Amino acid sequence: MSTEKIPYKIYLEENEMPKAWYNLRADMKNKPAPLLNPATHEPMSAKDLAPVFCDELIKQELDDTTPYFPIPDEILDFYKMYRPSPLVRAYCLEKALGTPAKIYYKFEGNNTSGSHKLNSAIAQAYYAKKQGLKGVTTETGAGQWGTALAMACAYFGLDCKVYMVKVSYEQKPFRREVMRTYGASVTPSPSMETNVGRKILAEHPGTTGSLGCAISEAVEKATSTEGYRYVLGSVLNQVLLHQSIIGLESKAALDKYGVKPDIIIGCAGGGSNLGGLISPFMGEKVRGEADYRFIAVEPASCPSFTRGNFAYDFCDTGMVCPLAKMYTLGSGFIPSASHAGGLRYHGMSSVLSQLYHDGLMEAVSVLQTDVFRAAEEFARVEGILPAPESSHAIKVAIDEAMKCKETGEEKTILFGLTGTGYFDMLAYQKFHDGKMDDYVPTDAEINESLDKLPAVD
Ligand SMILES: *Cc1c(COP(=O)(O)O)cnc(C)c1O
Repeated sequence: MSTEKIPYKIYLEENEMPKAWYNLRADMKNKPAPLLNPATHEPMSAKDLAPVFCDELIKQELDDTTPYFPIPDEILDFYKMYRPSPLVRAYCLEKALGTPAKIYYKFEGNNTSGSHKLNSAIAQAYYAKKQGLKGVTTETGAGQWGTALAMACAYFGLDCKVYMVKVSYEQKPFRREVMRTYGASVTPSPSMETNVGRKILAEHPGTTGSLGCAISEAVEKATSTEGYRYVLGSVLNQVLLHQSIIGLESKAALDKYGVKPDIIIGCAGGGSNLGGLISPFMGEKVRGEADYRFIAVEPASCPSFTRGNFAYDFCDTGMVCPLAKMYTLGSGFIPSASHAGGLRYHGMSSVLSQLYHDGLMEAVSVLQTDVFRAAEEFARVEGILPAPESSHAIKVAIDEAMKCKETGEEKTILFGLTGTGYFDMLAYQKFHDGKMDDYVPTDAEINESLDKLPAVD
């Protein structure tokens, strides 16, 4: 162990940067269950997926055996614009908490899109361009993914068509305008442009939309337009693969100073940042080389790990996407309108679901007012204004650090700080004005949604 003081920020040198993504599935003993064709319930083949996704990304999606995928030079060049991201020792937070714990966070908000999503957006845009496609479609909720994809498409000269959940389109005009600045076309969803959008509008006039519904529209648009494919910013295996850059950089930076984390914490929406952050550490754990505690943090209002079922489910409301085996609240589950903290997807990455099911990872759910309280405490001492999503991880990192204060243990905690919260000030305002509540769905509400899970044997 190096005796020099750990720098406030650890940056890797260019020659220390990861040159390949790590595919955790290659080392998992129990592989994540395959995607199933929604009509036949047979595993999706590359041929089944080809109308929807780019060819190279399909290979990555279906590959459970190749441990490393070299990162193409064009993507490495783009990564150089905002990577390495800093690994920060939270000295100020430790001092404020009076904890003997050592806290590190990997900050992914250092790019214009403001989150880790750019790591996968640039990879997906690259493979679409390489295939000679004209453009890609996608959905976005709060807008982080749409923004990241718009930036990536602008870089490679691809069309970018974004279906944005209507309530966000109306309430978050600034993100919408960032996307348009980068050349994306943004449509509020549900829209009259697609069959599924028209159907949902006919059945639920006045609906403000959901992520699942926007996914259905984006998929339909991609599969019905020549030269287009659909891209997704979370949940999929390929996205976790690209996000492994977060964990690989973190591990390289910690290894450089001889630091081994005891606890690794991340917020979990669809699971991409958490899956990426933990991947090289979890790799060591499943290979029996080292042990770590991993904690997924989710909102109490959308608790897929802690209250969902591990079952095959649709990834979208329109039920046009493949079925994935995952912890899910049911594809019809829509979190309460009072939920402002993000992470509102009904399902979870199949990789993380399998790891959780196998007892290799823990999960906790937290109340949104506690999350915003932690966000504020963090902002005041560490300077960064955190995204509400990221603040779920902050909350549990603080909780674990406070446990160390009680026991006197000097544990090392690493958490993922996935992004900044500049576009979330309406949620912060609600919190400051005391107008934020902590709605937790009842068992009856969750069961009503789970009762509609598709029957798969
Ligand atoms: C999208 C997003 C998340 C959640 O997505 P995951 O796929 O679970 O990582 C977390 N934090 C920020 C800032 C995001 O934009």
